[in-house]
Amino acid sequence: MKAIRVGRTGGPEVLELADVPVPSPGAGEALVRQSVAGINYIDVYVRTGLYKRDLPFIEGREGAGVVEAVGEGVTEVKIGDRVAYAQTPNLGGYAEANAVPVRELVPIPDGVDDRDACAVMLQGMTAHYLANDTFPLRPGHVALVHAAAGGVCSTLVQLAKARGATVIATVGTEEKAELARGLGADHVIVYANEDFADATRAIVGEHAVDVAYDSVGKDTWERSLSLLRPRGMLVVYGNSSGPVPPVEPQKLASAGSVFFTRPTLVDYIRTRDELLGRAHDLFDTIRNGKLHVRIGATYPLADAAQAHRDLEARKTTGKLLLIP
Ligand code: NDP
Repeated sequence: MKAIRVGRTGGPEVLELADVPVPSPGAGEALVRQSVAGINYIDVYVRTGLYKRDLPFIEGREGAGVVEAVGEGVTEVKIGDRVAYAQTPNLGGYAEANAVPVRELVPIPDGVDDRDACAVMLQGMTAHYLANDTFPLRPGHVALVHAAAGGVCSTLVQLAKARGATVIATVGTEEKAELARGLGADHVIVYANEDFADATRAIVGEHAVDVAYDSVGKDTWERSLSLLRPRGMLVVYGNSSGPVPPVEPQKLASAGSVFFTRPTLVDYIRTRDELLGRAHDLFDTIRNGKLHVRIGATYPLADAAQAHRDLEARKTTGKLLLIP
């Protein structure tokens, strides 16, 4: 089968189309014949070596398709089932097929297509836990959402609005601003053109942000912190501009006894019930038209390197998918 293999860490050029054997599902695994594979920013960190993996590996950790074979002891799914997954520790997502632990597979209900299902497995579920659990939003809350036209945030803005929050969104370009408004953001700041902290203060005043959802990291976290109300929360959940340096606890006291968390999806889908609960919640909101999954672009599998170039160059919006 065709797959995108990484033999050494580095730039997008290390993503090479290769012929590799179709994996055979081990005990507790199912072989998924993929109609689509998801691209996530974490794939960049793995490709560059910021997050370490043993070499060589097949890039990617998300996909959707049909169960083609099952390993020993599998009862959760059967051949022919439509399924989606994300976060398998073994990677292998950028490929025509992947052997996935069945505890990570989610059945896709009728009324949700493979592309939308794949698109919400990692980014959508992240938006879901951020809005519902890390900082449970409610009417009256002011939420600052960085990179609002991106994969996670195009869903996060919609979920935050559905929970009644006021959303201040930041984006890199005017085109992305238009998109963020369309998703329901109340205020949109093009942070490439103006200081987002000054602009936020002009909108809601000093120390008026209840929660800052910050995936940009190095370039934004300190100003995000400065905008919080006393006992507000800074949620740093990504490093798109680089990792956040160590933070002195005293800095949190000076900022108004604020909370600082660095969450990751795996801790919000710790049980199968939690995984299925989040996935079904998202699938339901797609089916009843309350969540519009924004697929920004699709690429042939062979063009994975170009997709990474576009993602890192901040040219993309919404979800990026590879079509095997
Ligand atoms: P996005 O689609 O959001 O793409 C990244 C966006 O970040 C860019 O489009 C750009 O938007 C913005 N950005 C700001 N500065 C930079 C920079 N220096 N280089 C590149 N991009 C920059 O990606 P994802 O939705 O896949 O992921 C968003 C973030 O969330 C990532 O940091 C990812 O690691 C993290 N994440 C964390 C999870 C968790 O559980 N902790 C789970 C899933 C994702 P703009 O032009 O508008 O600034």
